[in-house]
Amino acid sequence: MKSELEQPKQQAGQEERGKQRIPAETDEAFAERLIEIRRHLHRHPELSGEERETTDAIRGWLEEEGVRIADEYSLRTGLVAEIGQGDGPVVALRADIDALPIQEETKLEFASQAAGKMHACGHDAHTAILIGAARLLKQREFGLPGKVRLLFQPSEEKATGARQVIQSGALSEVRAVFGLHNKPDLQVGTVGIREGALLAAADGFVVNVEGVGTHAAVPEAGIDPIVVASHIVTALQAIVSRNVGAQESAVISVTKIHSGTAWNVIPDQAILDGTVRTFDEKVRARIRERFNQVVAGVAAAYGTRATVRWIQGPPAVVNDASLASAAEQVAGEVGLNSVRPLPSPAGEDFSFYQKEVPGLFLFLGTSGPHEWHHPAFDLDERALPLGAHLLAALAEQALQNLQVQND
Ligand SMILES: [Zn+2]
Ligand SMILES: [Zn+2]
Repeated sequence: MKSELEQPKQQAGQEERGKQRIPAETDEAFAERLIEIRRHLHRHPELSGEERETTDAIRGWLEEEGVRIADEYSLRTGLVAEIGQGDGPVVALRADIDALPIQEETKLEFASQAAGKMHACGHDAHTAILIGAARLLKQREFGLPGKVRLLFQPSEEKATGARQVIQSGALSEVRAVFGLHNKPDLQVGTVGIREGALLAAADGFVVNVEGVGTHAAVPEAGIDPIVVASHIVTALQAIVSRNVGAQESAVISVTKIHSGTAWNVIPDQAILDGTVRTFDEKVRARIRERFNQVVAGVAAAYGTRATVRWIQGPPAVVNDASLASAAEQVAGEVGLNSVRPLPSPAGEDFSFYQKEVPGLFLFLGTSGPHEWHHPAFDLDERALPLGAHLLAALAEQALQNLQVQND
């Protein structure tokens, strides 16, 4: 693994290989095609679970490329396709296709035409990249020593889509799975590759503090849930600082507090919502245990009860070490500079695939002006063909490695 400060190796050799594989004219037309696809999707964003027109469009683009749609893996939205034949190994490439309930604030000529909906996480780009990878793999189909399954996954933002894809059976026989996410703070031309944890487990919670309502002027006649909730919020801050080791990391954020209806009434309940982010299953379990103890203990100290509803989110994205090191070589071959990114506390349901088969999730540099989910989110479209070449080459290399193992 290289640090972000190190220079890429074998620059000259890569250029030569790059020229051999992709003639310049084709490259330009290829880039334009992917931009066109991304912009179409960007204009027509659809929310998680509602990606019907998006799915139809993907189907059309794949059919134009002559790619077989694998309708035997049935999904309500999203689709699976397959390239290659024979009974060689199978690897999978995944793109997420859903948008967010955000009102777009870019002034782009291809800005969202759907009020209150926006591709603010760049899944439009991921989809275009996977269509691009499909085109490249289709061109090399007869040389493929196995099959590449393309997973156009719905509902990533709700963290339910990966499980739908798994339930469809689309991961059957798959020996390795690859996916990527655009990364605004990495430069175009770089790819973030990291073995081990890359993205966090993203759990949620709802705490319901029981109080006893009373007149605001007579608090001794009731139990004030706002005071209890305030102490819970404060006490929760000590979990990360006192129960998580200095080498480990975690985040607990209370993001909503709801209580009360009038200035002169002590209400009878308070509700707290928030999220917990962790990179390690042991830390995840320890925080959950301490969370329940702290909430119950603080409530008891004030003579009341509080219930915790724990919303188990996707586990951490944990990358396979051998796939990660093999990917560095592939990245160099397609002209990308690999860097070793810090783990991000964001969540990604790609992790569900990694619970089933070895997987690698990458960050593709897109020189974006804003973080994910910002209303003016955008990305540098020069990253699209780079991502497509990267995914296609990763699938090809993984098939070759698996073939060698089988021989
Ligand atoms: Zn997102
Ligand atoms: Zn995303």
